[in-house]
Amino acid sequence: MAELNLILVGPPGAGKGTQAERITEDFNLPYIATGNILRAAVAEGTELGLKAKGFMDAGGLVPDDVIIGVILDRLQAEDAAEGFLLDGFPRTVPQAEALGADLSSLGRQLTAVLLIDVSDDEVIRRLSGRRVSAKTGRVYHVEFDPPKNEGVCDVDGSRLIQRDDDKPETIKNRLAVYHEQTEPLVDFYSNLGLLRRFDGSRPPAEVHDRIRAQIAALRVEGSL
Ligand code: ADP
Ligand code: ADP
Repeated sequence: MAELNLILVGPPGAGKGTQAERITEDFNLPYIATGNILRAAVAEGTELGLKAKGFMDAGGLVPDDVIIGVILDRLQAEDAAEGFLLDGFPRTVPQAEALGADLSSLGRQLTAVLLIDVSDDEVIRRLSGRRVSAKTGRVYHVEFDPPKNEGVCDVDGSRLIQRDDDKPETIKNRLAVYHEQTEPLVDFYSNLGLLRRFDGSRPPAEVHDRIRAQIAALRVEGSL
């Protein structure tokens, strides 16, 4: 079976985490989300967390030299040997270049980059209503995807919180950072023939169906 080395790209709030939860189950891939890794490091007060916290609180990016080594190491773990789903990395062109160089030195290559596209207005609606379980990481929306019981996670009853960076002022900054530093990856991967675009404004189940069908097709192509 060919490797499935996949990247999710899109503005904050596009639905990357929501889709990742479904896709990793469909294809049994390890889910490597840099935001989750960084938030855990901040909560534990590790050296990485201490370096990252200020940038994250302001809605900016953690510097490339802080994040690149952490993610490339994670990709070497045994569970990622047959494939992975990366969410939130790369987020800059230098990160994409470092990832490409690292994979090719290991004789591996990316299978595809899945872009989930939504407008800035939709991002603002989604992030302002986003609630997450600090314990399970499960994502909800007060209006679009509410939990069965208000304020608590369906999975284990843990309390739902609003992320500090989902406050209005920080959301605007994150969007600006996305357009300036991450959106250039769309052309970067398009030029490499790796980009697949999905309309993220559709309901979650529909976005999921399309992404799943695309990955299934890529897997068949890879094994021919
Ligand atoms: P990202 O990981 O890209 O930041 P999330 O998956 O956390 O995005 O989704 C952001 C918010 O939008 C969450 O509150 C989620 O419940 C909601 N959401 C995700 N996908 C959709 C969708 N297709 N339609 C409406 N709301 C969505
Ligand atoms: P979102 O749900 O908005 O897509 P994430 O959870 O992926 O956000 O990321 C939260 C924060 O973590 C970012 O605003 C940024 O400060 C930091 N971060 C995550 N991934 C990276 C990365 N690849 N490079 C630099 N900073 C990152």
